[in-house]
Amino acid sequence: MFAIERRRTVPVRVGTVTIGGGAPLSIQSMTNTKTADTEATLGQIERLVRAGCELVRVAIPDEAAARSLGVLARQSPVPLIADIHFDARLAHLALEHGAAKIRVNPGNIGGKEKLRALALDAAARGAAIRIGVNAGSLEKSLLKKHGSATAEALVESALGYLQELEKISFNNVVISLKASDVVTTIAANRLFASKSDYPLHLGVTEAGTLAEGTIKAAVGIGTLLAEGIGDTLRVSLTADPVEEVKVARRILQALRLREFGPELISCPTCGRCEIDLVGLAEQVAGLLAEYRGNFKVAVMGCVVNGPGEAREADVGVTAGRKKGIIFRRGKVVKTVPQDKILEALRHELDELEKLSSGR
Ligand code: SF4
Repeated sequence: MFAIERRRTVPVRVGTVTIGGGAPLSIQSMTNTKTADTEATLGQIERLVRAGCELVRVAIPDEAAARSLGVLARQSPVPLIADIHFDARLAHLALEHGAAKIRVNPGNIGGKEKLRALALDAAARGAAIRIGVNAGSLEKSLLKKHGSATAEALVESALGYLQELEKISFNNVVISLKASDVVTTIAANRLFASKSDYPLHLGVTEAGTLAEGTIKAAVGIGTLLAEGIGDTLRVSLTADPVEEVKVARRILQALRLREFGPELISCPTCGRCEIDLVGLAEQVAGLLAEYRGNFKVAVMGCVVNGPGEAREADVGVTAGRKKGIIFRRGKVVKTVPQDKILEALRHELDELEKLSSGR
């Protein structure tokens, strides 16, 4: 089976998580609570972690938010990343209060000197830095040189900041190059990957609502991941951040870069289908949430393309007229009435789960 060969990058330590250096691609998200409201923020961090988030970023817009990191970092089950704009003082305060990494946009943090001072502080505390280069806040000199926020301009900006950090031997750095335009994001990350071995944080910024943002993320992040580029990712959605984690997992699982439990395969339905397959597929998707094994489950609408097409599936159902044909790896095992399909699938899934957990 074809496997994606990942680009070799240097490992970056972010608390208990390693980004790059062959570590599993880590999933990030960002809280949208007021960070200083530690109860609400911890509640959201816990929901994100339950959904599979491995690194959580919090906004640090003011001193109260930076100071609240002390409580948050002590109680969070995953390392926290402080997101800072405009005020380098807040970044130092966030590091002092336990941020495992700070995300800064050097374009608005106050110049190279302030970036170097932050790096020295981060180095002393064992923290990491993400340099987030965004098309919307590129240096004026680069905009003038390149005419606009092109992929080349984004990469030149990132390499310039890296050079500054290398002068003081700081290399616990992750880079992100983002534009809301998917094509520029892909081009910039490809170009950077050809020039540097620092790990890349992938994302398409301001991607949109759940449906639109999912598509942009799947295309933008997915294209790069399929080429072996990328070490950590955040799917940006105008939605509950838990949805970002779910989408990130699906992208990684679709590319077989990580596995997170059962995968549903279902046919698009057509005029041959004689049951409510959409409803059945939704029910099966809900059922799969109860299992952890990495098996594939097919829900097919008719015998024409049923078991045969879903031969790759470990277990599945093909709908007939008011009945369901249950199959395993393309072979029919039994036929049940329509109202017993879910029960029959549950039985098969229980068996698979036992096998996959070695019980
Ligand atoms: S499996 Fe059957 S119902 Fe589903 S799309 Fe294919 S032919 Fe149509």
